[in-house]
Amino acid sequence: MSKKVIIIGAGIVGCALADELTQRGWTDVIVLEQGPLWAAGGSTSHAPGLVFQTNASKSLALYAKYTVEKLCSLDLDGEPCFLQVGSLEVATNKERLAELHRRASIATAWGIPAKVISAKEAKKLHPLLDEKSIIGALHVPTDGLAKALRADEAMGRLAISRGAKFLERHEVLDILKSNGKVTGVKTNKGDFEADIVIACAGIWGPKVGDMIGMPTALQPLAHQLAWTKDLPGLKNQEQECVLPLLRHQDKDLYYRQRNKGLGVGWYGHRPLPVKAKDILPFDKAKVMPSVLDFTKKEWEGAIKHSGKIIPELKKSKIDSAMNGLFSFTVDGFPLMGEWANLKGFWTAEAVWVTHSAGVAKAIAEWLVDGHPSLSVHESDVNRFEKHQLSPEHIEMRGKQNYVEVYDLLHPLDPMKEPRPLRTTGFYPRQKTLGGYFLEASGYERPQWYESNKKLVSKFKSPKRNSWSSKHWSPIIGAEAQYVRKHVGLFDITSLKRIEVSGKGALKFLETMTTGKLDKAVGSITYCLMLTENAGILSDVTVTRVEENQFILGANGNVDLIRLKNNAPDNVFVKDITSGTVGLGLFGPKARQLAQSVCDDDLSNESLGYFKAKKTYLGQVPVTLWRLSYVGELGFEIYADADMALKLWDTLFAAGKKFGLIPAGRGAFNSMRLEKGYRSYGAEMTSEHNPYQAGLSFAVRKTGGFIGANAYEKLSADQITKKLCCLVIKNDFDVVMGKEPVLVDNKVVGYTTSAYYGHTVGSPLAYAWLPIESSAIGTKVEIQYFDKKVKAVVGNDPQFDPQMTRLKS
Ligand SMILES: Cc1cc2nc3c(=O)[nH]c(=O)nc-3n(C[C@H](O)[C@H](O)[C@H](O)COP(=O)(O)OP(=O)(O)OC[C@H]3O[C@@H](n4cnc5c(N)ncnc54)[C@H](O)[C@@H]3O)c2cc1C
Repeated sequence: MSKKVIIIGAGIVGCALADELTQRGWTDVIVLEQGPLWAAGGSTSHAPGLVFQTNASKSLALYAKYTVEKLCSLDLDGEPCFLQVGSLEVATNKERLAELHRRASIATAWGIPAKVISAKEAKKLHPLLDEKSIIGALHVPTDGLAKALRADEAMGRLAISRGAKFLERHEVLDILKSNGKVTGVKTNKGDFEADIVIACAGIWGPKVGDMIGMPTALQPLAHQLAWTKDLPGLKNQEQECVLPLLRHQDKDLYYRQRNKGLGVGWYGHRPLPVKAKDILPFDKAKVMPSVLDFTKKEWEGAIKHSGKIIPELKKSKIDSAMNGLFSFTVDGFPLMGEWANLKGFWTAEAVWVTHSAGVAKAIAEWLVDGHPSLSVHESDVNRFEKHQLSPEHIEMRGKQNYVEVYDLLHPLDPMKEPRPLRTTGFYPRQKTLGGYFLEASGYERPQWYESNKKLVSKFKSPKRNSWSSKHWSPIIGAEAQYVRKHVGLFDITSLKRIEVSGKGALKFLETMTTGKLDKAVGSITYCLMLTENAGILSDVTVTRVEENQFILGANGNVDLIRLKNNAPDNVFVKDITSGTVGLGLFGPKARQLAQSVCDDDLSNESLGYFKAKKTYLGQVPVTLWRLSYVGELGFEIYADADMALKLWDTLFAAGKKFGLIPAGRGAFNSMRLEKGYRSYGAEMTSEHNPYQAGLSFAVRKTGGFIGANAYEKLSADQITKKLCCLVIKNDFDVVMGKEPVLVDNKVVGYTTSAYYGHTVGSPLAYAWLPIESSAIGTKVEIQYFDKKVKAVVGNDPQFDPQMTRLKS
């Protein structure tokens, strides 16, 4: 049913959202803008409008693709809203050229045409380039320039034609609420009622957030942009922009043509953070609120580096320049969705022009249809851990993400600072053992342990290519192989643990999840949370620890919020992650080891597969979960955080006899992939249903859960795409995930997670493929950098399909 909606802000996001909502029949929409229409004074008002669609995130790439398609379809009084001139990202060194090949393959995986071309071809497309200074370029022909202000007005007019209102010079001063629900807004020109308020306030996001006590994980930063005077090489140009956009990422620079001159953008200066509350109002700002004075000192370097690839820029003169403000978040993704603590308060902020229409479409679908068609797990406004919302963290991460925006980052690179941030009680021991730490949910987490180096001579791993060798050591392979034969201890603390308790807990969880949970105390159930359309929102492991108490192993804060927000009065939902620690004791000797420090019977008969028990390991009170995400005999062990060190020491003291080693996340990932266990966000998202993901076994037949009606209409034989296990022919060709998969030279799907399977002796990759390419034995190729890697669709899983290890 259509609702009364207020949108705060008429930048490109607010305008696109008004258009998307009214298109879907929600026409009771008022857009309140503190500045004048349509150049309202926010970031959109001065954005140079470069749209590069390529992004490792599927949803961000597809938001960009949609933005391009939509803006291409719009005009304002006959003037285009998008100039599809294409783009070039240049390489001046081998590392960047390799990265461009990788970016080309990522783009292709998401259906965006992209190709690496020679310096000569690049020069032909962009005659200002010095051919000798570059060694190649990525060409994306559908990229181009958004005419953001034109698009604002064009989308605004469309929304108005369907009934929306745009009110300029209306500053929202407060959000009105009652009983935990939004009721409207207060402005300088009176109050407005609303069922839903959506903040599209861009750099003012934190200020709007403050009105309701919402910490907003975005940092406004000043960014330098200069427009040159006419350049000789462009003297014959009659149109605004015909040359492709240009990026020189190694030197933090980008360029676009504007008639006979260029716009030059520069990320190479020190970060210049600004507090949202300090942004001047329109009538006090020199130019407009989001434009600050150009600081020449920061500009040093921009022209020097530019001159190397575009010689004409050496002698160019600046026509006008600014330090313009826009937003960076703690993790680089936008803030989207309804805030957990106030019903009806939504946000669509920290959005680039590039993703604007796609984000707006997703929010409109979310409101009107219940869930967006593309997964929003990366961008959900409720995704943040508590520590990520401290003002100091937001500023530090915002600045770091600004500095790194064009850097050549590896998918496993952890954040540079602040480190260490979250540590468990195991940390001192892990450091002593030579843990190589990466980071998960802010926790330091060992990827491998140098103390296991001695195992490498016995448990060998093949050499791998340079990209997949980053944050890798042959020790990982040794740990994985050793654990399959003996026993290893993995730190699994960073996994989100949620306690759901109270009289209504069982009924509630049976509504929220697909699990049959009405089982004896001590039972564990693997199940899913679904959207109303039966898309997978999360996979969870639910343990019934008491009659009315359940512990969930979940995927993150969004799961916690979903449960909290839907819980009736007789159900209590609590995040117990940081108050507890988790260890995985896995391997054929795990039971013997645990039994040696436990008085309770841990035999298969007494503590069978998918059963849990509260007991003691030595003096440490623990809950043992008899399962393993790496497909081995063993237990997940949970204890109170203050017992961490004692637990670790107890297990290692007892473990000497059994050859216990500490093992890292690298070995864990290799083993999980061999066993075919899915990871949320990689193998599955809300874009997939349980049949497609091979998880229909986790859905109870009796219905009664969210998504059951849609699920009932599905069946295994209707699916058109499927998650498949690819076995790669050549040991050296370990891929990383998010690569396109080709059959007969045509892209048919993309990889999700990938790793070397040390027990099965091949590199593995999971991939989404169309059903016609999913039969076992189908030959495929994976585009990896500039190489086509040969693979074949193999059995899923590769390791122990009979579950003999787990159930022994
Ligand atoms: C120099 C520069 C170059 C850039 N280059 C690019 C680029 O090439 N490509 C790209 O994709 N992106 C680029 N960006 C980023 C891009 O401009 C922004 O991400 C985008 O415009 C944000 O759009 P928005 O609608 O969220 O925010 P805005 O355009 O800032 O709109 C927010 C609106 O909310 C209004 N508002 C705020 N608070 C209130 C309130 N309390 N009451 C009423 N109204 C309120 C503001 O007045 C404002 O008009 C650039 C940014 C800068 C600064």
